[in-house]
Amino acid sequence: MYYSSTFARCEVQALAAYNAGLSIEAVQQKYAVSRVAKLGSNENPLGISPNALAALTAAAPLAALYPDQSCSLLRTALAHKLAIDEQRLVFGNGSEDLLSIICRVFLDHGDHVVTILPSFGLHIIYPQAAGAQVIGVPMGSDMRIDVQTLMAAVTPRTRLLMFSSPSNPVGSALTGSELQYIIDHLPAHTLLVFDEAYFEYANGEAGYPDALQLLQNSQCHFIVLRTFSKAYALAGLRIGYGITSDPGLAQLIDRLRTPFNVNRCAQAAAVAALADVQHLTQSVTHVRAERQRMETFLRERLGLNPIPSLANFIFFESPLAADSVNQSLLQQGVIIKPWTEAGYCQYLRVSVGSQQDNSHFMQALEHALQR
Ligand SMILES: *Cc1c(COP(=O)(O)O)cnc(C)c1O
Repeated sequence: MYYSSTFARCEVQALAAYNAGLSIEAVQQKYAVSRVAKLGSNENPLGISPNALAALTAAAPLAALYPDQSCSLLRTALAHKLAIDEQRLVFGNGSEDLLSIICRVFLDHGDHVVTILPSFGLHIIYPQAAGAQVIGVPMGSDMRIDVQTLMAAVTPRTRLLMFSSPSNPVGSALTGSELQYIIDHLPAHTLLVFDEAYFEYANGEAGYPDALQLLQNSQCHFIVLRTFSKAYALAGLRIGYGITSDPGLAQLIDRLRTPFNVNRCAQAAAVAALADVQHLTQSVTHVRAERQRMETFLRERLGLNPIPSLANFIFFESPLAADSVNQSLLQQGVIIKPWTEAGYCQYLRVSVGSQQDNSHFMQALEHALQR
């Protein structure tokens, strides 16, 4: 007997499945609830910018034609906004795509990747798929990245140092001096992949550094990853980008991407979303106000200890196992993300959604914890 799993490389056979959570329709059906608050995927509750929607609609009739493989319009707009050379940009079908490409370009069997725990799943799954060994460095007891311990884990075998700041799932971020410590201790053979998926939410908050600027002032080899999925509200279109320390890195990444990895509609919508500063500002303002309301509720009403977040989600420890709280929330029509990583099994991550969905969540959580 030859099992289908044995066709796969052994790294693939050993991989954990990515936990993407449930859809609204699936929860409505399974739990017989009519109203569902989807707060598990950090989506923007304000929805797509009207300008981006118009651009998307205008692009749709050209769907029969392949897209511009170099994302020229978006490239020019972003390079201008970031004041960088266009050749330092890379684009992906979501920044997930870039994470996957980066792992395939830079990692060889036996290489080490250092990341932080708790972690964004793909920072572990993609390196493992490439045959690398992932070294996870737990956050400190204050749930902040402990840069000394982190850099102590970097060895001659470390090819990538890869993590998110603000951290998904925790929401805390490096300060400028912490990032500088990393820069000062990063060996020349280690590439820093700095995932700033939540940049727009954190940008301008007290203590949040201009990471790109600090990195550009250093000798480090780096890729800063950003996305249109979160604050720019285009998660369904799949488009993200990377800013590399030099055009040579960008060229390497371009060698392994599929030539037309960013579709026509995504490119058009992203150009318009980037220009719609007002929609971005509204989105960020909304999240900051609602996040504060939710944090206060968790702390004062439920006696919990939510971790201060610079992103559009809140990570908190529950007195009960995350799985059982999750079941109760689902029965009440609320989707959040229960953490399943060893050591964090009582933690839940909830996205900051619409006012109505957030209230639905708060009520349901209070009920879940009373049982
Ligand atoms: C959401 C997220 C991504 C993926 O973003 P896409 O551009 O939608 O692929 C990458 N990194 C982190 C840390 C995220 O939270």
